[in-house]
Amino acid sequence: MTFTRTTLAAALTLVSLSLLAGCEGPGKVIEPLPPPIIHSPTPSPVFTPPPPPPPQPWTGQKIRGAVVVIDPGHGGKDPGALPKYGGHMTESAIVLDIGNRVARLLGERGARVIMTRSSDRFLELQDRADTAERNRADLFISIHADSAENRSASGAGVHIHTKASSQSQKAALRMTAAFQKHGIECRGIYRNNFHVLREHSRPAMLIECGFLTNAGDAGKLNSSSYRARIANAIADGTTAYFNP
Ligand code: ZN
Repeated sequence: MTFTRTTLAAALTLVSLSLLAGCEGPGKVIEPLPPPIIHSPTPSPVFTPPPPPPPQPWTGQKIRGAVVVIDPGHGGKDPGALPKYGGHMTESAIVLDIGNRVARLLGERGARVIMTRSSDRFLELQDRADTAERNRADLFISIHADSAENRSASGAGVHIHTKASSQSQKAALRMTAAFQKHGIECRGIYRNNFHVLREHSRPAMLIECGFLTNAGDAGKLNSSSYRARIANAIADGTTAYFNP
C-alpha cells in the first residue's frame, strides 16, 4: 500500500516537474528527483472497544471511608434481657459479641467504624445518640436482642424511627434483604420511637437479633457460629446500603 502510493506520488511529481520544465522551455535536463518522502498515514487500526471486564467480586470502594457507628445495646450494670429460656449469655454479652464482629467485618471492607462500646461497660442512651451525631455517622446501627411475653415469638426485626428519613428506610430494606439472603428469620421492618433513633439526625436503625424469650432463638444466639452469621448479614446489609 505504502509502496504503491509512494510510487504514484513520485510519478506525479515527475509529471509536474516535466510540465514546469516545458514552460521554462526545452533543453533543460531534468534530473530525476528521488521519490519524495510521503508520510502516508500508516493504516491506523480500527478502534474496537475492549470487551467489558467479567463481573468482579465486590472490592469495597463505596464503603471505604463511610462512617458507621455500631452500638451494642446495654452493658455494665445493665445486662439487658437475662438468659432464662436457654443458654447462659445475657443480651448485653450477645450483642457485644455481634457488634464486635460487625465492626471487624466492616473495618476489613474499608469503613471507618466507631463503636459506642467495645467492652462490657454501661452507657447512657444519649451518649449513644451523641456518638452518631458527633461523628456524622453515615449509618448508625444499634444491636439488641428482643423479649416478649409470648414465648413463641421468634426471629430478627429491624426498627427505624417513626419519622425515619428515606436513607434510614433504604438501609432497613437492605438489612432485611441481607438477613433473608443469609437464611436468618426476619420478621420485617418496624417503626418505633426509640431514643437512640430519635435523638440524632443521622440515618439509623436498631436491629433485634432474635428473641431471648424464645428457646430456639436463645439457643441459636448462644452459638458463636450463629452470631457470626448474623454479623455477616449485618455487614452485608450495610455494604449493600452503600453500594446501591
Ligand atoms: Zn435491648
